[in-house]
Amino acid sequence: MNMLLETKGLTAFYGDFQALFGIDFTIGAGETVAMIGANGAGKSTFLRALTGLHRTSGQDIFFDGQAIGGMAADRIHKMGLAMVPEGRRLFASLTVEENLRIGASGRRFGGWTVEQIYDLFPELLAKRKNLGTALSGGQQQMVAIGRALMSNPRLLLCDEISLGLAPKVIKNIYKSVPLIRETGTALLLVEQDVSQALAVADRVYCFMEGRVSLTGTPATLTRDQIAKAYFGIGDAA
Ligand code: ATP
Repeated sequence: MNMLLETKGLTAFYGDFQALFGIDFTIGAGETVAMIGANGAGKSTFLRALTGLHRTSGQDIFFDGQAIGGMAADRIHKMGLAMVPEGRRLFASLTVEENLRIGASGRRFGGWTVEQIYDLFPELLAKRKNLGTALSGGQQQMVAIGRALMSNPRLLLCDEISLGLAPKVIKNIYKSVPLIRETGTALLLVEQDVSQALAVADRVYCFMEGRVSLTGTPATLTRDQIAKAYFGIGDAA
């Protein structure tokens, strides 16, 4: 598998506070990777560093072999790195379809159309003229994913797409993951819903207190290993 994105010893700070300590991470083209960890472990900071929203040194993030650390966020986006942000952040005054079309601005060459987004999430079709605010939380999340896909990303970063949603709704949203994978897009799924993330991922990274505490494939990691790496305790019960 070709390497798509790599970080080497990535660090991040908020003023004097260090949030990330030397993160080594890789994701291959078309791969699905889950990133799990408790509140405050550094997952969102990591995603923000990858997308250029949190500035880093310059020689610690490589996308398709090119150093992107310190690059402006819009340039990184144009190279094919898109994020579904935590909290969805739809444009409240725009309809579903307008929100989707906004995702296409400055996009890479590629196949995603609004019709394909409706194929991916059929319940959005009837809501296409509705304002984002008139949707359920799950539907808003679908629009947020669709909007990011409209840029034809090579790597889609999803920050806690199951946050605040009912299990049935989460399951429904996760149905889209294999379909997105089929298009060749790599996925980095940051999740607190561990079981959901592990069910779809090729590999997993666990973060604890700004460090990678565990990495491996879902099939080879035990519940005890994951609990220890997630909470810093040994009991998975
Ligand atoms: P969550 O699931 O709560 O979003 P997370 O794993 O994504 O957690 P981050 O949001 O990346 O964690 O936070 C990592 C650390 O950085 C935490 O200690 C947090 O308090 C701190 N932090 C995050 N954002 C800021 C900020 N804007 N200013 C100062 N410290 C911050």
